[in-house]
Formats: sequence, structure tokens, C-alpha cells
Amino acid sequence: MKIQILGTAAAEGFPGLFCNCKHCKKARELGGKNIRTRSSTIIDDSIKIDFPPDSYHHVLTHNLDLSKIEHLLFTHTHMDHFNPKDLGMRTPGFAHDFSYPLHIYGNDAAIYKSKEVLWHTDQYFTFTLMHPFTTYQVGTAKVTPLPADHNPLETCLLFYIEKDGNRIFHGHDTGWFPEQTWEWLSTKKIDVAILDCTHGQLPERRNHLNIEAVKDIQNVFLEKGIMTNKSQMIATHFSHNIGLMHEDLEEIFASSGIKVAYDGIVLHV
Ligand SMILES: [Zn+2]
Ligand SMILES: [Zn+2]
Ligand SMILES: [Zn+2]
Repeated sequence: MKIQILGTAAAEGFPGLFCNCKHCKKARELGGKNIRTRSSTIIDDSIKIDFPPDSYHHVLTHNLDLSKIEHLLFTHTHMDHFNPKDLGMRTPGFAHDFSYPLHIYGNDAAIYKSKEVLWHTDQYFTFTLMHPFTTYQVGTAKVTPLPADHNPLETCLLFYIEKDGNRIFHGHDTGWFPEQTWEWLSTKKIDVAILDCTHGQLPERRNHLNIEAVKDIQNVFLEKGIMTNKSQMIATHFSHNIGLMHEDLEEIFASSGIKVAYDGIVLHV
């Protein structure tokens, strides 16, 4: 199984779209893995999680063939994850030579807002409203959405994905997981966990996680046998406010074996 993480910044990007702070200036100077765009992940070239405003940039930078994407899962409708108007480009006149429809999954806000802008429905797009703790067949994968600790105005979703014998946990955007989510995960196994690390070394661990909380989650996963030493844990979705360059993050996480995501990173399971 192939997992590609395309964007690894928080909403503002790194350097921030309009930001002139010292961290963003440093990131601009250093370039490379310090340039982070908005969130998305692709599994086996066919299942995509989130569709940020940087999607076209991702296609050009990573030479992607998005026509192969058959299933699109939305975590929530914050703009750094959700730009459904661009999906209108996946219709006749704008795109040729691939098969319809694109299957879209998400909470009520994501489905409602997608339908508002994708008027060529039925033939070209299908919509599945996801309810937490219900398992959905998504192509050859089974996907169970779980409640996150994030925007209280919508049901932000984490995803537990089972595909070809592998178990992936897509854990952002979120703070420390709600109790029901912990309970549901307690009997499960995870091969790859991708976790929110927006707050870096800042003390907050609600709404988004910080480094300490990511390490604490790793410990709970290991203690409960949800993960083993063979499992992979990846930190992503970093805010410019944390002031940490890619190398700093790698150093901080080195002893715990947690990988620091960068734009375009490919993981094989
Ligand atoms: Zn976000
Ligand atoms: Zn900045
Ligand atoms: Zn968010």
C-alpha cells in the first residue's frame, strides 16, 4: 500500500500566505522541506482525503494523475481541507478520458456545501453522508469515521481505514481525542497513524494537538497494543507559529521514532 501526503501545513501554509514573521522568512530562505502547503493525503492513487486550495499546485509539483481518484473523503470544511468548487473541473468540457463518477464522503456540512457548488450531480458525483462509528465501503477499503476534537460547529471526522490487510488512522484535524473515539480505538490495530501536530511546542492540546500530545498518543497506542513497534506514526499539519523548521522537528521526534511529514512524502506499508 502506498500513502502520499501532499500538504503538511496548517491553514496559512508555511511560509504563511501573507505572513512576514521571522519563521516564515526563514522557511522562505531555507526552502526544501520547510515549504509546506495545505492538507491532503492519497492512498493507493485512488482514495483522496481532503481537497485543499493547493490541489492544483500538488498536481503540478508531484506529477499527480488525479483522474485516477475515485473516492474523496472530507474530514471537515475548514478551507485548508475543503475547496469543492475546483471539483467542477472534473466534468465534461473541463476534463476528458477517465471514468465517472467521483464518490464524495463527508459530514453534513461537507456534503451540503459540496452539493451547493457541484450542480452536475448524479452522473458525475455521488454523495455519501458519513455518521461516526458507521463503517462504509469505499472502493476496496472499509472506512470508519470517528469524532475529532476540532470545530464544535460541525462533526469533524477522523478516519480508520482498512485496506488490503492494512490499517491506517488519519488523525487530523483534532485535539486530544474525545472519550468515545478512544473507546472505539481501544480494540483496534493501527499500522500507520497520521497525527495533527499544529501546536508544536506550544502548550495547547485541544482543537489541535502539540508535540507532547502526539507522543502521549503514541504511548497510549503502544500500551494498549493498538500499535506495535512495527507501526509507523507520522506527525503533520504544522502551524508557522511554532517556529520549527523541518530539521528541528526531526530532532525533537527522533528518539520516539515518529516521522515528520513533508510535502510529497510517500510511505509504503
Ligand atoms: Zn487544517
Ligand atoms: Zn509566519
Ligand atoms: Zn480544521
